[in-house]
Parts: sequence; C-alpha cells; structure tokens
Amino acid sequence: MGTGTSGFLESVNRMIDAAIARTDLPPGLGEVIKRVRSVYHVRFPVEIDGAYELIEGWRANHSEHVLPTKGGIRYSLGVDQEEVEALAALMTFKCSVVDVPFGGSKGGLKIDPRRYTRDQLEQITRRFTIELDKAGFISPSKNVPAPDMGTGAREMGWIANTYRMLHPDDINADACVTGKPMEYSGVSGRVEATGRGIQYALQEFFRHAEDVRDAGLDGGLDGKRIIVQGLGNVGYHAAKFLQEEDGSLITGIIERDGAIIDERGLTVETVRQHLNESGGIKGYPGARYIENGSELLEGDCDILIPAALESQITAQNAPRIQAKLMIEAANGPTTFEADPILRDKGIVIIPDLYANAGGVTVSYFEWTKNIQKMSYGRMGRRLMDLRADAAINMLETWLGKDIPDELETGLRTEASEINLVRSGLDDTMRTAYQEIREVWRSRKDVPDLRTAAYILAVQKIAHYYTDYAL
Ligand code: NAD
Repeated sequence: MGTGTSGFLESVNRMIDAAIARTDLPPGLGEVIKRVRSVYHVRFPVEIDGAYELIEGWRANHSEHVLPTKGGIRYSLGVDQEEVEALAALMTFKCSVVDVPFGGSKGGLKIDPRRYTRDQLEQITRRFTIELDKAGFISPSKNVPAPDMGTGAREMGWIANTYRMLHPDDINADACVTGKPMEYSGVSGRVEATGRGIQYALQEFFRHAEDVRDAGLDGGLDGKRIIVQGLGNVGYHAAKFLQEEDGSLITGIIERDGAIIDERGLTVETVRQHLNESGGIKGYPGARYIENGSELLEGDCDILIPAALESQITAQNAPRIQAKLMIEAANGPTTFEADPILRDKGIVIIPDLYANAGGVTVSYFEWTKNIQKMSYGRMGRRLMDLRADAAINMLETWLGKDIPDELETGLRTEASEINLVRSGLDDTMRTAYQEIREVWRSRKDVPDLRTAAYILAVQKIAHYYTDYAL
C-alpha cells in the first residue's frame, strides 16, 4: 500500500508468515496452508421500491483440510474480496486453535443494511442464499455460514429457511447455517457466545499471574478500567458480562457517532438501550461525549477491547495507546505494523484468532445439535437431578443438618442446554489459552501470544497434510 500500513489481507498474511517461519514444515506446505482455495464473486439484481439494484457479494473458502468450512456473512459497505479473503483465513486458524473441526470461510454483501427495510433485507438474504447454493458455497457438509457484522439470528433464519426449501430431502438442511433463532433450530447461548468467549478468555488470562504481571497489571478483573469500541453483538455482550459479573468498570464506549466516557463506569445495558432508541451514543445522559470517537482508543485504561472493525490500531496511533492489555474482539483490529510497536510498549495482546473464537465454538455446538436433532441435556437432565437429590440427602443424613444454600445450589446446577453450552465454551477458551501461552512461554523465538496462536494453528493444520496426505 506504500503508506506503511498493510491492508487487512496483507496484515493477516504477514502474521501467518511470521508463524510459518518459526515452524518446521516440509517445503511448500506453508504456502498451501496460507493461500485461499477459492472465491465466489457474484452480482445479483433486486427490485427495491420500483428500481433495480445490483448487489455485489463474495464467499471465500480458505481451507478445506476439514469440512465443512465455516465463517460468517457480513453486510457492510466495507466488504470486498480482500476483506472476505482475510476473514476467511482468520477463520481457518481460529477453528484450528480452538479445536473446532471446520475449515475457514467467510462471505459478505457490499451493502449498508440500515438502508433497507426488513422485507427488503429478507429478499436480499434469500436471493444471496440461492446464489450461494447454485455455486456450491453453502451446505451442511461443505460450507456453513454464521452471523457477522450487520447480520444476526434473523438473517440466519432466512438463510436456513431458503436452503430447506431448496433441499427438502436433506435431513440436515438446518445445519447449513448457524446462529439461527432458538425457535428455528438455534442453540442456547449462540447470540452471546463471542462476547461470552471474550469474558472467559480474560478470566483465564487473569489466572496466570506471570502474564498479568507482564502486562503491567495485578489482581483480577474486578475494578479494571475498560474501553470498548463497538457496542454491537460482540462488544455489548463482552462489556455487559465483564461489568455485571466480573466487577470491571466500562469507562469508555466508542461507537460510529463518537465516544462516551465516565470514569465511574458506564451502565452497559442503558447505553445499549440509548443506542437502540436513538441510533447513536451521542446524548447519553451523565457521560462526557467526544465527537472523534477513535481518539478514545488512545484513552487511559487497563484493558482495550476493539469490537467493531479491522485496522483500527495502526502504526499511526499505536505509539499513543495507553491500555496495558488489549483483547481483540473484532477480527483484525491491529495491523501488522502496529503489533511490534505495542509489544515494545509492553502492551499484551490477546489475539483475534483466539479471543473471538467463542462464536464459532458455539456455532460448532449448534451444528452438532442440528445433526443429532436433539437439544443438549435432554437425555441426562433428569438423571443429574436424581444424582443431586441423592448427594444432598446423603450429606444431610451424615451431617444431621441442612447443607448451606450455596452448596445445594451448586449441586443442583441444571444440566440445561445453556449451562452445557457455557461449560463447553469455558473449557474451550481455557484450554486454548493454556496451549497458546505454553508456546509463548516455552520458546525464546516467539515474541507474543499472536505468533504463538498462529504457530499452534499452523502445526495442527499441517498434521492433516503430513499424516493424511491430503
Ligand atoms: P455488529 O454489527 O453487531 O456490531 C458492530 C458494532 O460496531 C455496531 O454497534 C456498529 O455501530 C459499531 N461500529 C461500526 N463502525 C464503527 C466505528 N467506526 N467505530 C466504532 N464503532 C463502530 O457486529 P459484531 O457481530 O458485533 O462484529 C464485530 C466484530 O467482531 C467484527 O470484526 C466481527 O468480524 C467480529 N466477530 C463477530 C462474531 C459474531 O459472532 N458476531 C464472531 C467473531 C468475530
């Protein structure tokens, strides 16, 4: 690009290269693992208010070392082929790092979804599904989309319904897409999953005193001052859980129309209500407002959570970032050039390919649920209840008195779908962090968690090629 700022795809590729250079792969395999396999580019017409519009879209398949490939569908004016390819690549490494058996894919339409009515979006989404189907870029066994920026459960429901109409004999049709509404074969906890994963990743980080010290922090999440960019699906859930459950202070929120600051801590739920009602955060009562929102990325805080767009932290603003820890809830918020600047300042980055993997992890649970056609916990819930009754009775008989309420509540924790999903997600985020930090801590040539995560992912993918001769 000539400006010292790598484009998104170039940034991702250079990050992958940095990891490949530190692995011992057979000649050529690094290139095989890095490059995108296929990209589908489509234009299709829709009639909007009596006029015709040509909608442009893409779906990229980055790696098919395992199938199906998996990745969201984004509706945004920023969508182009490079962005979709970069996001598809990230999906490959993300799935690998959290042991979710999918290849990487991503898609998008170059539209501003806020310009269209609900019915028009339904028409566009159904038509895109038909185009993807014609080209072989959607199916429960080959390529499974999910929500991303500008899309959500509603759009996924339309996609599933369209696919089911096109393939009435496919018993797994509902597994052609994840992130669907609960009443349309969704899974409990998918909407919150990526934000929940951010919370679990941070909780795990703070269990490792050495890592916390390296970031110049101490203690736990309680009282930590956090700035969040983007209060959409991911940012809202992450901020809400951290505030309500971990005692963190959300001291700043950056949105499209500016940023708000309150050192005493903003109430995420009411900010979100204000955003929903007024379309922006400007005018939120009781907080200081600044018009140039991205300035607040450089604000004084303990933890920065970019949860909106790619390429937000660049070589230009990296020298001024004051956060001690950054967790990349968005995909690709940090450019390749910004990475070493932040590292030299002692800022620890929990990288996107691990940090925001909660969404695809719970998508995996949804896909599995759709194929097994049974909700999680249905077979075992009553049995677990009986065991809890037996354990409580036994304890109370032995002790000759009632056990404390909190112990009884713990023993009676229901094996409901939401609890099982959260348990599976928590376990996934803990295990992956431990594996990544092990690579980071045990190798002198691995400078940060990002390189460690990519090395881990590359090694896991390489096995498919070397062991199964793909
Ligand atoms: P979303 O559309 O629900 O929310 C995005 C939010 O960012 C919106 O509130 C929007 O107003 C805000 N925003 C847009 N431009 C902004 C700007 N310039 N400055 C500040 N705020 C801005 O999208 P999302 O699903 O929350 O996705 C956010 C990021 O997380 C993306 O990078 C996406 O790829 C990534 N991600 C999403 C998921 C998921 O499950 N939805 C999973 C993994 C990663």
